[in-house]
Amino acid sequence: AEKTPILEMRNVVSAYGRIQALKGISLKVYDGEIVSIIGANGAGKSTTLMTICNIVKAVQGDILYRGERINNVNSDILPTMGLCQVPEGRRIFPRLTVLENLDMGAFFRTDAGGVKDDVERVFDLFPKLRERRKQLGGTLSGGEQQMLAMARALMSRPKVLLLDEPSMGLAPLLVKQIFDIVKMINEQGVTVVLVEQNANLALQAASRGYVLETGNVVMEDDAKKLLANPDIRKAYLGE
Ligand code: ATP
Repeated sequence: AEKTPILEMRNVVSAYGRIQALKGISLKVYDGEIVSIIGANGAGKSTTLMTICNIVKAVQGDILYRGERINNVNSDILPTMGLCQVPEGRRIFPRLTVLENLDMGAFFRTDAGGVKDDVERVFDLFPKLRERRKQLGGTLSGGEQQMLAMARALMSRPKVLLLDEPSMGLAPLLVKQIFDIVKMINEQGVTVVLVEQNANLALQAASRGYVLETGNVVMEDDAKKLLANPDIRKAYLGE
């Protein structure tokens, strides 16, 4: 028998008003994977993550997390179930310190000792944040804010992390750092769904990938095969 995916979308449709952004998306994510979702501007990548999190409502289809239908679970509850999104544009708390931002990521946890240990663990992943722990979030550089957003999400001890464009607006060296950290997070047991404009890096980091076009999945395959596919190379990898 086939393994149960940790996260699955079955024929999911979602819309902004009358405009259908997702036209029947089906995808599966298995425990321990990094799955990348690539596609042009406006293809529906961000909407896919927002629909999983019930920030945008699915008007049709099923969203399953660990075998349970989550279509109607409030987006605020999902992190307490281990499903956590890092939205595009980061959205850290600019007037709170780095440490306070991290505490917010753990707001629902009752194991104070565990939270304290996890602060140290995320500081080990992001040493820059340890240096700046007393600094206000809003005074961090773009790359540091991205790191803080990811670190804050990790404070909820996610099983599945949904990352929306983590490389957006970052210098190439920082982009590489962020991807290295994504791989480290995954190696620590967190399943990752990665939405990226930078298809090349996203597919290099992933085990499998989905290609979206105007709200539909047009291709899904092992990331290596997608990287080697001439059509993909031409359309998404700048060849
Ligand atoms: P990008 O990388 O530009 O964010 P994307 O692949 O993530 O692209 P989405 O942002 O998911 O694409 O957009 C999918 C479709 O939904 C597009 O046609 C877009 O114009 C539309 N859309 C996105 N957000 C809204 C919104 N808040 N209101 C109305 N339409 C929207």
